[in-house]
Amino acid sequence: MTAPGTLNPATLVSIGLPPLTAPRDVPAAVAAARAAQVAWAETPLARRETACLALATRILERRDEVAELLRLETGRDPAESLFDEIVFVLSYVKGACAVARKELAPERVPLSAIDFPGKRAMVEAVPRGVIAVIEPWNYPLLQFYKPLFPALLSGNAVVLKPSEHTPRVASWLKDQCDAVLPKDLVAIVHGDGAVGGALVEGAVDAVVFCGSVRTGRKVAARCAERLIPCSLELGGKDAAIVLADCALERTLAGILQWSLNNAGQDCSSIERLYVEESLADTFVARLGAAFDRLRVAPVAEGHADLGPLQNPMQLAVVEAHVADALAKGATLVCGGRREGPGLGYRPTILDRCDESMDVVRDETFGPVLAVIRVKDADEAVRRANDSRYGLNGSVWTADTAKGERLARRLDVGVALVNNHSFPGVVPQVPWTGTKETGTGVAASRHAYPTFVRRRTVLVDTSRDPDPFWRPVDAELAAFGDTAARFALGSWTAVFSLLGLLRRRVAAVKQLVAARP
Ligand code: NAD
Repeated sequence: MTAPGTLNPATLVSIGLPPLTAPRDVPAAVAAARAAQVAWAETPLARRETACLALATRILERRDEVAELLRLETGRDPAESLFDEIVFVLSYVKGACAVARKELAPERVPLSAIDFPGKRAMVEAVPRGVIAVIEPWNYPLLQFYKPLFPALLSGNAVVLKPSEHTPRVASWLKDQCDAVLPKDLVAIVHGDGAVGGALVEGAVDAVVFCGSVRTGRKVAARCAERLIPCSLELGGKDAAIVLADCALERTLAGILQWSLNNAGQDCSSIERLYVEESLADTFVARLGAAFDRLRVAPVAEGHADLGPLQNPMQLAVVEAHVADALAKGATLVCGGRREGPGLGYRPTILDRCDESMDVVRDETFGPVLAVIRVKDADEAVRRANDSRYGLNGSVWTADTAKGERLARRLDVGVALVNNHSFPGVVPQVPWTGTKETGTGVAASRHAYPTFVRRRTVLVDTSRDPDPFWRPVDAELAAFGDTAARFALGSWTAVFSLLGLLRRRVAAVKQLVAARP
């Protein structure tokens, strides 16, 4: 078998050898990043923001360069990559900066002057240090910049670990970082699981991991042993529910878009479609006709609607799922075969699927849509929730109030009405899941526990000792009892409390008084 990252998957033409890091060299990359982080953490947020904006601007200005690299490594049409991974980068950073300003601002915590006299408290955000960002191959640029920007804004250094299948795009990103950020603040290590494992094992302070459930479990276990935070964004098997009253054209186009974007190699791809029986014949026939009109890369002229599968293992999973479904009684509406000289696969619809089939239970991660016909919305919600995963879930209906009610019943991290998947590029909302999709949160203020720890700073301005300090004596017992009665609402306790307080302070002072 050819080594990962050496062929253009659309054509199977060689693109040369990928860069590699020896696992023993990983600690040096982490150490260099750690050294660079010290000054970065001291850099005011406004200057960190300026640097991140400059990085995003640079990416956007060099969009043709990176789109071409993406075409080389994923086989996707540059026009598709532009919208999937590039065009939103500047608005993403602007949103991330707005989130950072709120989330990183020190918080003054009001304390009760009765319970905690003379004291003031502040909660601050402290950067964790060096963040490892380990990513898969499906969105080689976007998957990195989503955690990269909040990590940098928070004052951290970052070590990128791209998939062995798509190393060049991440190397390009690292070069752009070097052009606008302090030297070594963003490092990169290349290779397979051995290098990823060495990075988790090394001296990093937190891990952002995105990838398969199998690897995610290993990374989580190791991070738990090392007692460092770990954000996990794992697989998906998204469901969309199409009700008979939906806006037909929008729904057809939306389901096509979000089941086939990136040839279905998207954690939030619609892989299961629950359609109300009364609409199913029309819907499936029209969707099938539209799927048949799409062009798979490489094309001789113009643009391709779909790229290939990125690697042969993924193509094998797709073919196995389709074969399993057909053997168990599904109907092939369209597709179901390879196309072109590379790893292209025709967009495929399998009708009349059920839960006995791999294509309904397991992540396919390809251009294959399983249709499950249902009697009504209740059956659709019940069956949609019967999954190990829970990333996005959507309901398509003209009655948006009903859609909202149903969407809230879906056991997912991102619930939508009449759309799917796009919140992945919105920096202000959590991108998160349930069940085996993992506990991670990408984007929004809710992602910050991975990037910062909280530090409580407490300043006591009292000149006298606190009244409950040692010695332990009968008056301390009386003081405790009176304080408890006061807490329970006894106002008469106030009078004895004031006297006790004075006497207790005197007793504590007496304890440490200079003795002859
Ligand atoms: P993978 O788990 O095989 O690899 C992911 C990354 O982990 C790669 O960089 C790999 O080299 C590295 N790795 C492998 N073994 C490791 C180890 N022991 N320790 C540390 N790192 C290790 O996943 P993949 O096949 O590259 O990606 C596809 C998966 O990613 C799909 O399941 C998809 O759903 C998921 N994904 C999820 C999201 C999300 O937001 N939830 C987004 C994109 C992709």
